[in-house]
Amino acid sequence: MPGIGEKAAAQLLAEQFGIEGQLRPLPSEWGGTFQVAAEQKYLLKIAPEHVPVARLDAEIACILFLNKRPGVTWIPQLIPPLRNVEATSRVRLYRWIDGVSLRNVTPHGPPLLRDIGQILGLLRTALAEFDHPGAHFDFTWAPHNWRWVPQAIHVFDTPERNEIAEWTSWLDNVDLNPADLPHGVNYGDANDDNIIVRRSDSGPQIAGLIDFGDLHVGPCINDLAICLTYIMMNKRDPIGAAVKVIEGYHAAHSLTDAEAASLLPLIMGRLLISVTKARQRAKKDPDNVYWQVSVRDAWALIRQLKKLNPYLITCHFRGACGFEPAPTGHAVRQWVKNNRAGLHPLLGFQLAEEPVTVFDWSTGSLGLGDFQDMADVAGSTRRVFTQMEEHGTRVGVGRYNEPRPVYTTAEYMLPGEDAALVRTVHIGLDLFMPAGTPLYAPLDGIVRTIVNNPGDKEYGPLLILEHQVDDLTFYTLYGHNSVETLSMWQAGDRVRKGDKIAEIGPYPENGNWVPHVHFQVMTDMLDFTDDFPGVVAPEHREVWLSICPDPNLMLGIQHPDLEYQEADPDNLLARRRRVLGPNLSTSYDRPLHIVRGWKTFLYDASGRPYLDTRNNIAHVGHEHPRLTRVARQQIALLNTNTRYLHEARLACAEALLQTLPGHLSCVYFVNSGSEANDLALRMAKAATEHHLVATLDGAYHGHTQATLDVSPYKFNGSGGNGCPASTVVLPAPDTWRVPDVSVTLRAAEALREVADGRAPVTLIHESLPSCAGQLVPPADFFQVLYAIVREAGGVCIADEVQTGLGRVGKAMWAFELYDVLPDIVTIGKPLGNGHPVAAVAVTEKVARAFDNGMEYFNSFGGNPVSCIIAREVLRIVHEDGLQRHALDAGERWMAALRHLQASHPAIGDVRGYGLFIGLEFSQPGTCRPAPDKAAYIVRRMLDHRILTSLDGPDENVMKLKPPMSITDAEINTFVDVLEKILGETMMQV
Ligand code: PMP
Repeated sequence: MPGIGEKAAAQLLAEQFGIEGQLRPLPSEWGGTFQVAAEQKYLLKIAPEHVPVARLDAEIACILFLNKRPGVTWIPQLIPPLRNVEATSRVRLYRWIDGVSLRNVTPHGPPLLRDIGQILGLLRTALAEFDHPGAHFDFTWAPHNWRWVPQAIHVFDTPERNEIAEWTSWLDNVDLNPADLPHGVNYGDANDDNIIVRRSDSGPQIAGLIDFGDLHVGPCINDLAICLTYIMMNKRDPIGAAVKVIEGYHAAHSLTDAEAASLLPLIMGRLLISVTKARQRAKKDPDNVYWQVSVRDAWALIRQLKKLNPYLITCHFRGACGFEPAPTGHAVRQWVKNNRAGLHPLLGFQLAEEPVTVFDWSTGSLGLGDFQDMADVAGSTRRVFTQMEEHGTRVGVGRYNEPRPVYTTAEYMLPGEDAALVRTVHIGLDLFMPAGTPLYAPLDGIVRTIVNNPGDKEYGPLLILEHQVDDLTFYTLYGHNSVETLSMWQAGDRVRKGDKIAEIGPYPENGNWVPHVHFQVMTDMLDFTDDFPGVVAPEHREVWLSICPDPNLMLGIQHPDLEYQEADPDNLLARRRRVLGPNLSTSYDRPLHIVRGWKTFLYDASGRPYLDTRNNIAHVGHEHPRLTRVARQQIALLNTNTRYLHEARLACAEALLQTLPGHLSCVYFVNSGSEANDLALRMAKAATEHHLVATLDGAYHGHTQATLDVSPYKFNGSGGNGCPASTVVLPAPDTWRVPDVSVTLRAAEALREVADGRAPVTLIHESLPSCAGQLVPPADFFQVLYAIVREAGGVCIADEVQTGLGRVGKAMWAFELYDVLPDIVTIGKPLGNGHPVAAVAVTEKVARAFDNGMEYFNSFGGNPVSCIIAREVLRIVHEDGLQRHALDAGERWMAALRHLQASHPAIGDVRGYGLFIGLEFSQPGTCRPAPDKAAYIVRRMLDHRILTSLDGPDENVMKLKPPMSITDAEINTFVDVLEKILGETMMQV
């Protein structure tokens, strides 16, 4: 049906409001909606004839009512018509709300979703005092009115008709009577076109809700259900998104138990109404695209929901309102507590008095060893049973509610909105006993499931019993049984309390685990038949702990360590603030509590893995097992100072010198990069008998006073005291902004000025300045500077703390890229892979000058543990070909980033060597830094569990310098995620 034309609309606008302007038709259900550009912007709505005047009157009355409510700033202002005209409610003019519709905003992050919920909650509170006869009618779009859908089902062909029928019959059987829910006026149209969002410094904000044409009286929860229907579309984790909206709503306006339970049926009702209406209209008017805008997304959501369990969804929704997620959780726990004494012991003997060994297998424990150990079931079995024997216990216990690092296969991943959710939290209780140990039914039951779940890290032979007690039903699960257990039962069999029901299986038939029974209690089967989750995502912990209560309620084991308690990051932060210096910063808005590392990943206490692309200290990969082994052995044997002879120190020094040019012949071991540079500066002073040091702008060389004095990054930064008299700052080699020739020329001029005038000068430099913004100096840069220094009798210090040990790919050391021979090389971070060991390599001449009679002694520097570790790092770099890998992987990575740059102008520059890459974000088409975009990207990368960091004078350069163990697949993940983020509308400032 065509709406009114622009000309006629303009005439009405002029007549009734005295406003003349440009009219632009907007997409709408019936036409007649225009944007008006006059002195201000307006929205003009002219209702078609078929809309009853009473509804239009209701809309106007409602807007006028809301416009008067204090604090309601997110409703469009209605413009009154001219006083002297007879206006009709068919023509309404609103002040325009600036912003974009939610449909065009990506991503829908948790704060935005909570805000949406909160606004709807506030709206409900406001509307509680409003009523109008025009809102009382049978609104066919209202979610609770889905009952007309089955009558219209003929518009669909199969298979869609079957799908609709299946859902309507599901709705028929849901325990919901909409008439019982609190009723009132609903806004009725909180879809993603009508929620207007604007940008603010703190992220996207709700600017307003528009279009009050669907006002209707019905269950007050309709507005939330309608909104959730659209919010859940196009989401990988629709329930997670809905939960955030519900949380916001509930905080503003409390939901009742019955309302929380009604949400899913009402969402489903609205979805069925939407697709049916769309089909009806498509038949009538195939060309009208407006009516079809959401139909594909609606169908996709219907099919997504089909794969989820309604009971589980409602548990999530209840949890979002602060109710116990599982409706029967409390009752089941209570029943078990009251009846524990009458249960038959699962293992045939009471566990309440039994001494047990409780295993700590949490993410931050070595109970399971490292990831290599975890793959070794025989070894793990030996360890478990040896420990039990040592403790003199016949039973071992694995904890309920414990996040564990062991669940690593794809099977344990769930779709998340950004990063996948990883299932780590164990919601059963493990009892370790030898294979063959019989298990007995704790109470009467019916065999619900008896199947083999074969495969690595599965349940193996699985038994689930259903128990009906009083008016409650609950279930008990027994996983990892012997294959013989399978022949003991058939589904439907009755089991008597005390019957032998299963026996503990040996590996590998038990799913390839250390022999144990995984015992779990469930309040609902969630439509599972042959399986049931025993491990869940930490994000869903509260919901699942309610669905699956603590099995120890049935067992009664007494042990102080049985309850897993996860450290609260807020508490850790508070303690940290109390006892550690206030200028010790943490990364990210919400600091991470990292408890484990492996290769390119760090793991937080809940077991979530983070891809680490910023840590060049963990050079050969986090927690490399070879390093752990040599460190453990050496510290058990000897760790003392350099006043005794030791093979490890010599072997390490010799190996290090072998990687350096021959003119460097002598090594001093220290404990940090700062200490290395501090010592290097002291040596340079001894060699030149002069204090003057030249450094590059933006450089950081350490935290001691001497190194701070040559670090413009610090002395010109926040809290700095400016450049000391003994330091000369040379311009940073920013070849992206300044042509190579000028870069070299300017630095040379600045150096010559001091070298020529004030004699021997020390030059300290990184060959690829890092904190200065991952810069790549021109090819002749250091040769020119070295020549000036040498001519003046000075010395050159190459700081390889960031860049050394093969990271730059083409060379072992970054200074080699520039074909220069430093007098002193300082080596830090990567040398110990996280262990504090650093070194200074010097020429014989420098060493001699330094040896002026004063002893060089360092309590820790060069101790055998440090040297053993550094020696092993050098071996691993060599044996695993990490320098070559850095070259290849880095080139591939930079090529992929440059490819992205072609379509994303926010990437100003991609530069670097090997796995030392700078990604500079700038205003499109210019060299002007874009720190806000850079910060946005870092935040969003973290949402995808990728760790990145920024540096450079404008904090707009992403420093990519991952552990050298990074794989092609991990680099691809990084690039894919970055591409996705660059495409988000919240990026397009
Ligand atoms: N030199 C450079 C180039 C560095 O980046 C750093 C540390 N970021 C240091 C020296 C100081 O090393 P450390 O933190 O081990 O003292």
